Amino acid sequence: MSTDSLTALVRTIPDFPKPGILFRDITTLLADGDGLRDLVDCMAAVARPLDPDLIVGIEARGFILGAALALALGKGFVPVRKKGKLPGKTVGIDYCLEYGTDRLELHEGQVPVGARVLLVDDLIATGGTALAAAQLLREQGASVLMALFAIDLPDLGGMAALSADGVAAQAIIAFDGE
Ligand code: AMP
Repeated sequence: MSTDSLTALVRTIPDFPKPGILFRDITTLLADGDGLRDLVDCMAAVARPLDPDLIVGIEARGFILGAALALALGKGFVPVRKKGKLPGKTVGIDYCLEYGTDRLELHEGQVPVGARVLLVDDLIATGGTALAAAQLLREQGASVLMALFAIDLPDLGGMAALSADGVAAQAIIAFDGE
């Protein structure tokens, strides 16, 4: 399946979760067996040569793609969750949103010092979420080999922000606009 076909499987919902946002909904792609397999194959083709020790997925859609990728590569999967969701002792990082702040957390010790990790999410917009996750991983002594996304919104500059911070980043498909 071409990347154009993958792009066509993503549904765009205007004005969600608030007016002016074009929400790129991957549930339509996930529900298509060929589409899901081909998306994960594309992500695995990027990730495999890096030979990461661990796949780290960002809540929530990063769990779906990250776990599929971990299975494809035969690697373990570690979730980065929003505040207060993980049952064990956590380490975390606060980061700024457009309005207010949020917090990402990781189980303490689940990413070993020196681990070479691949960070995964469904979409990169401004890059704020992925930057915070990468910083949290670095604070644990891990190195982030790459941040890998299904979708990039290049007009929002997230990839550039990651690369300015020394995080290699790649996406399988892109959409113009916000
Ligand atoms: P950002 O931190 O601005 O890069 O936003 C990325 C996070 O927000 C990811 O976890 C995405 O799932 C979600 N997100 C941001 N913008 C959109 C959008 N237009 N459509 C779908 N998800 C989005």
